[in-house]
Amino acid sequence: MKILFLDQSGKPGGAELCLVDIAKPYRDRCLVGLFADGSFRNLLEQNQIPVEVLTTHQIQVRKESSLAQGLSSIAQIAPLIAKVVQKASNYDLIYANTQKALVVGALASFFSQRPLVYHLHDILSPEHFSKTNRRIAVTCANRFASLVIANSQASKTAFIAAGGRSEITEVVYNGFDPKIYQIQESEIHHIKQQLGLDGQFVVGHFSRLAPWKGQHILIEALAQCPQEVTVLLVGDALFGEQDYIQHLHQLVTELDVDKRVKFLGFRSDIPLLMAACDLVAHTSTSPEPFGRVIVEAMLSGTRVVAAKAGGAIELVEPGKSGFLVTPGDPQELAQVIITCLKEKEKTANIANKARMTATQRFDVTQTNQQIAQLLSRLPV
Ligand code: UDP
Repeated sequence: MKILFLDQSGKPGGAELCLVDIAKPYRDRCLVGLFADGSFRNLLEQNQIPVEVLTTHQIQVRKESSLAQGLSSIAQIAPLIAKVVQKASNYDLIYANTQKALVVGALASFFSQRPLVYHLHDILSPEHFSKTNRRIAVTCANRFASLVIANSQASKTAFIAAGGRSEITEVVYNGFDPKIYQIQESEIHHIKQQLGLDGQFVVGHFSRLAPWKGQHILIEALAQCPQEVTVLLVGDALFGEQDYIQHLHQLVTELDVDKRVKFLGFRSDIPLLMAACDLVAHTSTSPEPFGRVIVEAMLSGTRVVAAKAGGAIELVEPGKSGFLVTPGDPQELAQVIITCLKEKEKTANIANKARMTATQRFDVTQTNQQIAQLLSRLPV
């Protein structure tokens, strides 16, 4: 089966990293069409996945856009749709990996008569999307998609609540290669030394810097923890959240924890950094659609605490594979950090069990098989 994948982003967020794993088995018979240029293109190239930047014009519609803005952007994307229609003639199906890719893919699927698959990586709720954007996504998916792959039960439920058709929607979790998360003790020792983390209890946060990802909650929690606790903030503002970065720097100064917080920026050595942490904290203040970082922490054998909402609830069994806390509550988070610090052995056992469970539940070979099976049922 030849697949034309579409993704709007030039930067590698969770949806894009998931797409790399999905496209790999099709690398000799697929194309990833991007609507922006950037480091995501390089990542695809490094993985020998054919990629082409189909437009460099920014599509103006944003997550909170109104109907008028949405309609005017359709006129803007007409040349892009024409290009996708032309490309699609060489492929058996169109696989839209993001919302703007869905809109373009829906129209291109209509004109090219190729089936459309929509991989839903979002929770289509008012917290994340305007009413107009939810309506556009649901209408395009209902009318044009033969299959919607939701990245969690939470994403599927929100899609159906927004009017999406349940009979075309299947849940497939993100898959991972567990081998990547097996790191040698000597490497951990080396990176800890390099980052000046020796003797510290290290809490890592791995996410783009954005208000809803809640890095500020972790900083507020840190201020209530003993001095030996240090925080690593790994990730950058992918979508222009510069004000938030400034806010975080102000907050660490105000709370007098500037010596205990390290901003590492965007990194490509996530498994190594996670292995060097004693605890990974996920602190999203709005429901997380899936939460790749939660599974990655488990695969690393590192303790994990996640905000109790959305997909995170499906990933973590409290007390058995990690911890769940009320979203936006720094005090509760601080309590879990202190528990992990005081009860190192007991909580390390939980992390070891989580590693085994995650290795079974989220193996990329299995998730890719699930997707291949779903695609094989399509009328191509
Ligand atoms: N990530 C990364 N480098 C960074 C920060 C994060 O590669 O500096 C990765 C992280 O390991 C995870 C992904 O970005 O695989 C984020 O996915 P998640 O589902 O947690 O959040 P999303 O970006 O989809 O909102």
